[in-house]
Parts: sequence; structure tokens; C-alpha cells
Amino acid sequence: MEHVEVADDTRIRAVLPTLSYLREHGAMVGLCSHLGRPKGVEPKFSLTPVARRLAELLGCTVPLLPDCVGEAVRRAILAMEEDDVLLLENTRFHAEEEANDPAFARALAEGFDLFVNDAFGAAHRAHASTEGVAHHLPAYAGFLLEKELRMLGGLLADPRRPFLAIVGGAKVSTKIDVLRALVDRVDAVAIGGGMANTFLSATGHAVGTSLREADREEDARRILLRAKEREIDFHLPQDAVCAPTADAPAGRVRDVDHVPADEAMLDIGPRTVEEDAGAISRAATIFWNGPMGVFESAPFAAGTKRIAELLAASRATTVVGGGESLQALEELGLASKMTHVSTGGGASLELIEGRTLPGVAAIPDR
Ligand code: ADP
Ligand code: MG
Repeated sequence: MEHVEVADDTRIRAVLPTLSYLREHGAMVGLCSHLGRPKGVEPKFSLTPVARRLAELLGCTVPLLPDCVGEAVRRAILAMEEDDVLLLENTRFHAEEEANDPAFARALAEGFDLFVNDAFGAAHRAHASTEGVAHHLPAYAGFLLEKELRMLGGLLADPRRPFLAIVGGAKVSTKIDVLRALVDRVDAVAIGGGMANTFLSATGHAVGTSLREADREEDARRILLRAKEREIDFHLPQDAVCAPTADAPAGRVRDVDHVPADEAMLDIGPRTVEEDAGAISRAATIFWNGPMGVFESAPFAAGTKRIAELLAASRATTVVGGGESLQALEELGLASKMTHVSTGGGASLELIEGRTLPGVAAIPDR
């Protein structure tokens, strides 16, 4: 098989503090993880590259076992010695993992004395390795899981105010519960990205060929109404970078009242950035989720870049969640300038929505 490299080791490095702590305290550690969405055993989803990267980061050998359950695994665990670290093969090679099969969860636990969950990014899934296994071993939260819960939970419980939420990304539909939760708690909202078009359309603007969800306009109006009831600032884009398609070589800045019928709004414009900058400068806490435009395409990346730079320069507590938001920050080299960048896309949003994460609920005393 070809030599696959880990393209982004952020999530591997994020568990190193827990791993070091456990090893310094005499634990032999068997690591359990998943990769991708394999249908049964698919070699291209093997954790081989992860084992290699872990070995580099830890400076020791990290053997990869051929499976995550079964006799060979049990024997390897029994043969472990002090300082040993080993990696179990992709848990999703077994359909029982995502089905949270109790017998599979018991098999995963076999040979171990305790379970430390540091997989915040998977904590919103009730799978065997995140939820099920916690019923078969004394279960604890790792440092990453604790930090995520403290930082994201802190936003909901006791944020320094004013608290600003910047929400972008593609669609209202995937973020509606997040928007509802936030609009009840924050002091200001700034909307960007594709979802802004649905808000603009809901408030009577012609949005051309922009990404827009007609069936979500009622939801958008309800969010706006709630913001009005609470008398919080709600910033919708004033202008946008428009083009016929996202692969156009360049866009044109247009007022949101003058979007041609054959063009789409693909990024927030400079007046919008300026207004958002004002909101950012007034905020003491900022939560950002979702890019402000089609940042994957250079002509429509400026809005996301400027917002990221403003957050990086801000003295406010800055917390960022979301897969593409994180990707944008990493590409800009600004991730380390944030107070906290969540490693969990879906998990961070579900937490903000106020939901209980099954992987967390399964840990006693959490
Ligand atoms: P996150 O993963 O950070 O939560 P989302 O998954 O909601 O963010 O959305 C990310 C996607 O939204 C990006 O791939 C980006 O191209 C797209 N997007 C942003 N603005 C627009 C827009 N104006 N029109 C269409 N797509 C957009
Ligand atoms: Mg995403």
C-alpha cells in the first residue's frame, strides 16, 4: 500500500498531555480511535499513519495491533510492560462500534483496568468506544475533554460580557439549533457565509443565485424576532462579494440591495467587515463558527481572513468551533492566537445547543 502521511496532526497532538500524564504515572496505554467511514475492514482507513506519527511525537515505538478486539489483542495487552504504548486498529472496521453493541463494548474493555476518554470530537456519538465501553471499566475524562467542556461550557454558563456570536458557514439548516441557543444568551450576533443569504432573503432582499434555503426563512425570521425581543444587536451583511459562480476568477463588491439575478453572494464585503469589526472591538467574549464566505476559493476568502485577523488581535476571550472554521484558521496560521479552538466540530455545536453528549454522560462524576 502507498505510504500515507497524516496531513494534519492537530487532533493527535491534542491528546498528548493526557497521554504523557498517564505514562508519567505508570500507566501502560492502549490507544483506541477511528478514522473515516469504512464499510467493514478497508485497508485505506488503517491507523498505520497515525501509529507512525504518534511514534514520532512520543519518541518511542507505537505498535499497531491488527484489530481492536479479539484474542491477539488481548494477548498483546497482557504482554505490555511499563512505558509501553500501543494503538488498536480502527474501531470502525466493526459495524458494532457505531451500533454501540454491548458485547463489542465489553470486548473492547477486555484486558484494560480503566478507560480515559479524551475524544471530545466523538463525544456526541453514542458509540461502543465512546459510550459503551464506559459501562465496563472505571471511566474518566482526559485533559482535552475537560478543557473543551470548560471552554465551551463556560460560554453558556458565565461568559464575560458583551458576548458576541459570529456565525457563518453554509446553511441555516445545520446551525438552526445553535442559532436558537446563542440568540437566547449572547449580546450581539453577526451573520455571514451562505446562511446570511437565507436571512437576507427572509427580510425581503433579492439574493440572485446565492445559496439560500427557502424552507428556512421562517426559522430565520423567528431568530430575528427573538433578537429583537431581547434587544440585542443583530448584524446582517450590508455588502457582499458577488460572482456568477464560486470558481469565477474574481468577484465584485455589491450592496445587498443590488445583487444581480444571475450572481451569487460568495463572501461578506468590506462594509460588512467594518461593521463586524466594530462588534468585535466591543466584545469581551466571542464565539465564532462557520467561515464568512467560500474561503476555499481565493477571490472569496478575504472576509473570513479579516474576521480571523480581527479575532487574533482581539483581547476578548475567543472560542472557535467547526470543521471548516478550524481549517481556515489553520491555513491562515492563526489558530494559536485564539483562546480556544475546539477539536470537535459536531460535538462543539451540540454542546453549544445545550445538549448532553453521550460520551460525557457515560463518565461518572462528570
Ligand atoms: P463549519 O464546518 O466551520 O461549521 P460549515 O460546514 O457550516 O462550517 O460551512 C462551511 C462551508 O460554507 C465552506 O465550505 C464554505 O465554502 C461555505 N460557504 C461559506 N459562505 C458561503 C456562501 N456565501 N455561499 C456558499 N457557500 C458558502
Ligand atoms: Mg463543516
